[in-house]
Amino acid sequence: MPGNPNETKLVNFAMANGTRRKIINFLANGYRSTGELEKIIGTTTLDFHLNILQQAGLIELEEGTVKLSEYGRKFLKNKTGKSEEKNADFSQAKPVEIAEIRQLSPCIADLSRLRVSANMLPPLGGILKLLEPLFPRSNYLDRKDSLIIQKGEIITTIYGSGKISIRMIKNEDEAKEVLESLKSTINEAIAKGVAPTPREKVRVELMEIYKYLPQTNCGKCSEQGCYSFAIKLMARQVTLDRCTLLKEPQYANNQEHLQILTSYI
Ligand code: SF4
Repeated sequence: MPGNPNETKLVNFAMANGTRRKIINFLANGYRSTGELEKIIGTTTLDFHLNILQQAGLIELEEGTVKLSEYGRKFLKNKTGKSEEKNADFSQAKPVEIAEIRQLSPCIADLSRLRVSANMLPPLGGILKLLEPLFPRSNYLDRKDSLIIQKGEIITTIYGSGKISIRMIKNEDEAKEVLESLKSTINEAIAKGVAPTPREKVRVELMEIYKYLPQTNCGKCSEQGCYSFAIKLMARQVTLDRCTLLKEPQYANNQEHLQILTSYI
């Protein structure tokens, strides 16, 4: 049963994918044949997904049938319980307002663009993580209590404390537009009184990953170049931290984009 950090990583990785979440939910009512799973998932990638779920200790495979392992059942029960708890909290949430923009400064990654700080009131606190499904490209980070949202070149980070940071903005008007749209999306969800339903993440393409790599082909990641590194990232054979150039300040923006994108692979 997963317990140590590496095993927890395997579970997080397994459950970060929409198809695998679908399989786990499908198995909630009992075992299924691989034929049944093929009908909902498709034949081409079923073995790949089952293999990852098995490595994470969430399922057991036996002679053409698939079932949740004991750990998988506990995991699902725990998750369902938590989500019911969270829905109750969500119904208490108050509509938010954007307090005035506090700071405009040049982005480190691109001096022609701006970085903007603002505040959201009241702070979203515990419901912040529940808002992730509202944004097709977003990622909630527990350790920072922050929701990072990617839309085109713009990266917006909302913190549980209410602080908002937006990068790669052209001017103050664009910042106001982004903040207004953020406020409406969140308030629409709050008005409904229930947490948004988790949905499939947007598919990530190889060229999107490649676009945000430094493209120096320096080889420091031990690959032939950035394109090879992108292929291995897509196959989950390497992790982002192997590209040490991304840690340099001028690539801070690229790194954030890649962190969001790789969380959908
Ligand atoms: S270390 Fe980064 S920049 Fe250098 S080749 Fe690898 S992916 Fe490209």
